[in-house]
Amino acid sequence: MTEKLCTQCGRNKPIIHRKYNGQRLCSSCFRKSIEKQVLTTIRKQKLITKGDKVLVGLSGGKDSVALLKILNILKEKHIIELEAITIDEGIAGYREEGIRIAKDTTEKLNIKHHIISFQDKYGFTIDKIMKAEKNQPNPQHACTYCGVFRRQVFNQVAREVNATKIATGHNLDDETQSILMNYLEGNINNMVRIGYKTQASDERFTQKIKPLRKIPEKEIGLYVLESGFEVHFDGCPYAHDSFRMEVGDFLRSTTIKHPTIMYSILNGFEKIRPVIREEYLENHPGKPNGTCEICGEPSSQRICKSCKFLKQIHEKIGE
Ligand code: SF4
Ligand code: ZN
Repeated sequence: MTEKLCTQCGRNKPIIHRKYNGQRLCSSCFRKSIEKQVLTTIRKQKLITKGDKVLVGLSGGKDSVALLKILNILKEKHIIELEAITIDEGIAGYREEGIRIAKDTTEKLNIKHHIISFQDKYGFTIDKIMKAEKNQPNPQHACTYCGVFRRQVFNQVAREVNATKIATGHNLDDETQSILMNYLEGNINNMVRIGYKTQASDERFTQKIKPLRKIPEKEIGLYVLESGFEVHFDGCPYAHDSFRMEVGDFLRSTTIKHPTIMYSILNGFEKIRPVIREEYLENHPGKPNGTCEICGEPSSQRICKSCKFLKQIHEKIGE
C-alpha cells in the first residue's frame, strides 16, 4: 500500500487528517493553513484595521499562545502594534506555570508584556477569597469574582496603553458550547451578544475580538506544538461550570460521527444572529452609559459590580 502524502504539497507525511473536509496535511502546510484561516477571518469579519494596537489576553494556554503567534505575523508586517496582558489571579499551583510560559512566549516574539496581579491591584488573591468563602452561608464561585475583576483589568490596561482592540483566544469549541448552552437555557440576551467582536455599549470599553473563532480546539493545540511553542494544558482548579462541560462532552462525542457539526452550529447561528439580534435588542436596548460613583469606571448602576464585590470581599477576608 502506498503511503498517503500531504494533500496540499504532495511531498511530506501528514500529521493531521481533517475528517470535516478530507484534507491530510503535513506540519508545514497545516501551520500555514491555520494562519491563513485566522488571517482570512480577521479580514472578512473586519476585526482589525491597519494601525490598530491590539492587546492580547495571554494566559499561557494553547489558545492565547496561538493567537499571539498569528497576530505577530501582522505586527512583523507593520500592520498592527501588539502587546500582551497576563492576569495573575493568585491561584497557587496553576497560574505560575501560565505566567512563566506567557513571559517566555512574549520574550521569544519580542512583544511588550503586562502582568497584573489581583494581589497588587486589589489586595487579595482568588485563593484568599475562596478560603473565606468556605465559611459563608452561600459561598460564591471563584469565577463570579474572577470574571468581573479580569474584565475590569483588561479594560483599564487597554485604555492605559491606548489599545484599540482586545483579542481573546476563544476557539470553535468554546463558541459552539456558548451558542448551544445559551440556546438550551433560553438565554437569548446572552446569545445575541456572542460574535466575532463586541458591539461596545460604551466607548470607554475597548472592542473585543475573537480571531480563532473558526478553529477547532484540537487543531490549535497541534498548531502550537508544531510551531515549537510550549503551552500548559492544565485547567483551573476552580473551574466549575458543569453545564458547559456536559455540552462540551456532547459536542465532542457528536463530532466523531458528524465531523462538521461544530461548523454547522456556528454558521447556522451566524445566519440567524442578525435577525434575532435586531428583533431582540429592539425590545431590550443596551444598558445606560453611567459612571460608577466610586471608581469612575463605566457602569449601568450607581456603584459598579467590581466595587460592590470589592466591598464584600474585604468584609469577608477581614482586611
Ligand atoms: Fe478564574 Fe474561574 Fe477562569 Fe479559574 S476558571 S481562572 S477562577 S474565571
Ligand atoms: Zn466601581
